[in-house]
Amino acid sequence: MAEVEKMAEELNPFKIAQKQLDMCAEKLKLEPAVHQFLREPMRTLIVSIPVKMDNGETKVFTGFRVQYNDARGPTKGGIRFHPEETLDTVKALAAWMTWKCAVVNIPYGGGKGGVICDPKKMSKRELEQLSRGYVRAIAQIIGDEKDIPAPDVYTTPEIMAWMTDEFSKIKQYNVPGVFTGKPLIIGGSAGRGDATARGGTYCIREAAKVLKLNLKGATVAIQGFGNAGQFAAKILSEEYGCKIIAVSDSKGGIYSEKGLEFSKVLEHKEKTGSVMDFKGAKNITNQELLEMECDILVPAALENQITAKNAGKIKAKIVAELANGPTTPEADEILYKNKVFVIPDFLCNAGGVTVSYFEWVQNINGYYWTEKEVHEKLDRIMTEAFYSVYEMSQKEKVHMRLAAYMVAVKRVADAVKTRGWV
Ligand code: GLU
Repeated sequence: MAEVEKMAEELNPFKIAQKQLDMCAEKLKLEPAVHQFLREPMRTLIVSIPVKMDNGETKVFTGFRVQYNDARGPTKGGIRFHPEETLDTVKALAAWMTWKCAVVNIPYGGGKGGVICDPKKMSKRELEQLSRGYVRAIAQIIGDEKDIPAPDVYTTPEIMAWMTDEFSKIKQYNVPGVFTGKPLIIGGSAGRGDATARGGTYCIREAAKVLKLNLKGATVAIQGFGNAGQFAAKILSEEYGCKIIAVSDSKGGIYSEKGLEFSKVLEHKEKTGSVMDFKGAKNITNQELLEMECDILVPAALENQITAKNAGKIKAKIVAELANGPTTPEADEILYKNKVFVIPDFLCNAGGVTVSYFEWVQNINGYYWTEKEVHEKLDRIMTEAFYSVYEMSQKEKVHMRLAAYMVAVKRVADAVKTRGWV
């Protein structure tokens, strides 16, 4: 295979997801038919969405919804609005959602959606039309008992509100439980906003315990300053006393040995559109951020950031993956050899879907919980999941990602077999 093709294959998220599953299947000695069934999504829908743009022209967008596996319950997973979205990325993310819901043991299967679009270049009206059009296109296969979407890259609570409204109009009654991550006023859950980051910080807290690392004053570098990255910076500095020495976004990053004050950086980003050129900090590249001397590295942006090329240069003690798919399988081996403790994505960032699950339970019951209750319940689920994976990694002498796969895939495989599917 030509070098370029080989690289593209190595970085294809779905190929990576399948490769990770294959390694796990071998370890678990999974029956061939179950393995084969879990290698592909159960259902894939591709849709065309015409949207009348502000200039009067109609533009047709392509969208996807993948329902990977529903043996453990209705499929669940976010919707991404991204200019480089591909079906293979959505398939990989849907697979990871399946393992994510299983590892934290919430009663869902996994799914994912995506629309090829650049929300940064669209007006609010255009975005609303696209969101509503997407829902009309996938309405047949979603529902609070079938498949429950949520926010993901570049989709927001406001977008979830439009989507819930559109679906409810189609049904002619209010269906709050069909989307999660909604604004509070229409049935969102307390604690959903920072849930992904908060769940990750519970894992970091437990990882620090087993590694005997003091979090007070521990240095942190965060790649990505969206929902997950911003709240990780806030919670780690304000609640755990960590020192955030670097953050970045898609344009680049900033570094300060003295530590960055979260609220000031956020204000700067809101004013200028980027974290870069922050007063008193040095501009750095995303690559420099990943390779920097720090205790905790938090990839909170997109896929394929830590690869065979840079894994050997990672100096952090803990890599807490808030993004989905930031590390390739080749990089995993290098990090494991170098004793870097990786909290794998579908464990580390499962706080988001866990509070989505709480939101759905509250919607169905029409009875709402306090933020404190949500935090306590989330802490219990994340801590339990962390130790089920950590103990598996110790027992089987494998890295945390493979251990997480072993815990999760076994649960899904058992559900598939118990239902008599395979
Ligand atoms: N998009 C988030 C994830 O990747 C949350 C999914 C959800 O809440 O359903 O985990």
